[in-house]
Amino acid sequence: MKELRRRLERERLVAATRLRQLGGQIVLEEAATPADSVWDEADHIQASEQREMGLMSRERLVERIERLTAALKRVDDGTYGTCIECGKAIGQARLKAIPEVATCVSCQEKIERGDA
Ligand SMILES: [Zn+2]
Repeated sequence: MKELRRRLERERLVAATRLRQLGGQIVLEEAATPADSVWDEADHIQASEQREMGLMSRERLVERIERLTAALKRVDDGTYGTCIECGKAIGQARLKAIPEVATCVSCQEKIERGDA
């Protein structure tokens, strides 16, 4: 679980750093402030990650930060990895690919179709 937390915090930090470069502002909640070790990692963000974030609009970065923050909260309450729509477990491969994901594949499809 520690690894997961670090990954979520790190991705959020990358997004927040990028957002700041774009001139946007995001207030990270005090309770969710990453540990010093995570902040140190900001200096070591890979160029590829920065490029990826560079393609995202400010609005998308804010949304991503919000999703990462929500995912960190779910780690804290022990509900991480459970679909927020149907309560079933989200597949490991899906969580690995999109760590901040909050819904399983079938609920995501329903949401995208607009019938959720
Ligand atoms: Zn679901």
